[in-house]
Amino acid sequence: MAPISLRKLNKTYGALTVVHDIDLEIADKEFIILVGPSGCGKSTTLRMIAGLEEISGGELVIGGDLVNDVPSKDRDIAMVFQNYALYPHMTVYKNMAFGLMLRKAAREEIDRKVTEAARILDIEHLLNRKPKALSGGQRQRVALGRAMVRNPEVFLLDEPLSNLDAKLRGTMRAEIAKLHKRLNATFIYVTHDQIEAMTMADRIVVMKDGHIQQVDTPQILYDHPVNMFVAGFIGAPQ
Ligand code: ADP
Ligand code: MG
Repeated sequence: MAPISLRKLNKTYGALTVVHDIDLEIADKEFIILVGPSGCGKSTTLRMIAGLEEISGGELVIGGDLVNDVPSKDRDIAMVFQNYALYPHMTVYKNMAFGLMLRKAAREEIDRKVTEAARILDIEHLLNRKPKALSGGQRQRVALGRAMVRNPEVFLLDEPLSNLDAKLRGTMRAEIAKLHKRLNATFIYVTHDQIEAMTMADRIVVMKDGHIQQVDTPQILYDHPVNMFVAGFIGAPQ
C-alpha cells in the first residue's frame, strides 16, 4: 500500500474549527510523529485517519482511494490508545484474540497470530492473566499486541507511553522503534513529548492551534525551525 494523503483536512465542532486545512503526505512505511501542545488537534487528526471521527472538510486519500466515508472497520488500520482500553474481564490472550474472533478467523489462525505477537512483545508468560494483574508496561504491550494480530499496514498510536514512568518510557521507545522496523508498517504516532519525537521519528509534524507549523526530519527541525514556536517547542526542556 499506501501513501496517505491529507488534503485540506478540516474538523469543526459547531462554530469551532479544531483542525484547519491540514495538508500532509505520509509515505508508505514512514514513522511520522505529530507533536504539539495539548489541545492543538493531534488526536482529532489521528481519529479522522482511523475513521473514528467524521471529517468536516477536505479529503483523506489512502493508496489512491478517497476514504472519507469508509467505515473504520474497513480501513486497514489499527489504533493503540494512551489508556490501553483493554477489556478488564478478559485474559490477555482473549484481549488479543477478540478482534480476530469477531472477524470469524479460524481458531488455528488466531492461535498462531496471538502466540507470535506475544513472543515478539515478550508477554507469552502473561497470556492467562487479566489486565488488573499487569503492570503499566505490560498492559501497553498487550495493547500493541492487540493491534499487531490484525497485521494492519498502518498503526496509529496516540500517546502510547504517557502513562508509563520515565525509565519504562525510555525502554518502550526503543521497543516501538524496533517494532516499526520489524512490522514493516506505517506508524503515525502522537505525542506531546518532544524527546520522544526527536528520537523516534523519520519526520515530525509540529502542530499549533489546529495548524501545521512545520514538517521535517528531526535534524532539519532542530537546525532550521521555521519560527519561534517550533524553535521553542523542539528546544524546550522536558
Ligand atoms: P490534542 O490531542 O492535540 O491534545 P485534541 O485533538 O484532543 O487535541 O483536541 C483539539 C481541540 O478539539 C481541543 O480544543 C478540544 O477541546 C476540542 N475537542 C475535541 N473533541 C471535541 C468535541 N467532541 N467537542 C468539542 N470540542 C472538542
Ligand atoms: Mg490528544
